[in-house]
Amino acid sequence: MVRPSDTHVNKIRAAVLRKRGGPLKIESLELESPRDDEVLVRIVASGICHTDISFCDGWEKTDGPVVLGHEGAGIVEQIGKMVRNVKRGDHVVLSYQSCGHCRQCRRGHPTDCDHFYAMNFGFARLDGSNALQQSGVRGHFFGQSSFATYALATERNLVKVSKKLPLEVLAPLGCGLQTGAGTVMNSLKVSKGASIAIFGTGAVGLAAVMAARVVGADPIIGVDIIPMRLKLALELGATHTINSRHDDIASRITDITGRGVDYVLEITGNSKMYRLAIDILNPQGTVAFLTGISGPDSLPEGRKALSIIQGDAVPQRFIPKLITLYRAGQFPFDRLVNFYDFNKINQAVADAKRGTTIKPVLRISET
Ligand SMILES: [Zn+2]
Ligand SMILES: [Zn+2]
Repeated sequence: MVRPSDTHVNKIRAAVLRKRGGPLKIESLELESPRDDEVLVRIVASGICHTDISFCDGWEKTDGPVVLGHEGAGIVEQIGKMVRNVKRGDHVVLSYQSCGHCRQCRRGHPTDCDHFYAMNFGFARLDGSNALQQSGVRGHFFGQSSFATYALATERNLVKVSKKLPLEVLAPLGCGLQTGAGTVMNSLKVSKGASIAIFGTGAVGLAAVMAARVVGADPIIGVDIIPMRLKLALELGATHTINSRHDDIASRITDITGRGVDYVLEITGNSKMYRLAIDILNPQGTVAFLTGISGPDSLPEGRKALSIIQGDAVPQRFIPKLITLYRAGQFPFDRLVNFYDFNKINQAVADAKRGTTIKPVLRISET
C-alpha cells in the first residue's frame, strides 16, 4: 500500500484535453513515481490512433481534463519492486492494458479481459486511483497516456524491443497495426488462397493488407474513398482496389470473386457499410467488425460476424512477430508513418482526420 507521503512525483509535460474537439495543450504536470507493479517509461515517440481522435471529438464535460495517447514507445526509467521482466534502460513498446487475473487473462486471451474497459478507458488504475491526481488531470489511458514525456505502465502492457530499431518507427505497433494484422492472422486465421476485402485502408486496414499478403490471401481487395490510400494499398499487397465514391462495391466484388468473398474487415465505422459487408460475403464467409459494433441482428445462414478487439493479439508475442516480418521486408509499416514534433500534435491530428497522413507519430523526446 502506498501512502500519499511515500509518493514521489515527476515533473512531466503532457498534451491535455480540456475541451471537446481539442485543441490538445501541452502543460506541465506532476506524475507519481511507479508503484510496486508499475514501470515509469520515458516516452520517445507515440503514434496517434483513430481512438484518440474519436475520444477527443466525443469528449464530455463530465470526462474532465485527460491525457490521451496509447501507442507509446520509450525507455524504461524506473521500475517498481515487483517488476521482473524489464529493467532500467530497456527499450519498450507500449500496448493495451489487461488485468492478468481474470479467467480470460489466465487463459491467454487478454483482449477479452473482464476489466478491459476499465483498464483502457477508465482513466484510472483498477483501484480507482490516478497518478496525475496532484495536477487535477486523469491519465492511465490504455494503461499509459503516452501523449506525455513520461508514462506509467505495467509489465502486462510493455513489450521489450531491440535497441537496434528506432523507437519512433516501432511506436504504432502497440494498437493500430497490431489490430489490423492480428485480425487477419489471429482472429480470422486467413489462409493461403482465401479472398478478403478490407473496407477502409487507413493504418489498421493497410496493416491488414500487408498481413493478408504475408499469409498468401488472394484476391486482396482494398476499399476506400481516398486515392492516395488506395494507391498505397496496391503497393503494399492489395490485388485490387475499389474507390467506393465512384464504383459500386458489390458489383465490383462479384466481378472479381465470382461468388463473394471469404472475409471482410469493416473498419470504416460507416453504418451503410455494415450490411454491405455481409451481403458481399460468400455463403460461408465471415465479417470482422473492428470499430466496436457486433454486427446486425440477422445474418444469412452460414455467414458469421465477429467483433474484434486488438486483433486478439497478446502483445508480448505478436509485436515481436510483426517486428521480425518488418525486418524481413514483409511488413513495411514504416511507409504509413509521418513524423511530427510533439508541439505539432494538433496539426498531426488534423492531417490524420483529413486523410493526408495515414499514421502520425509524435517525436516526444530524444533516444
Ligand atoms: Zn483480465
Ligand atoms: Zn488505438
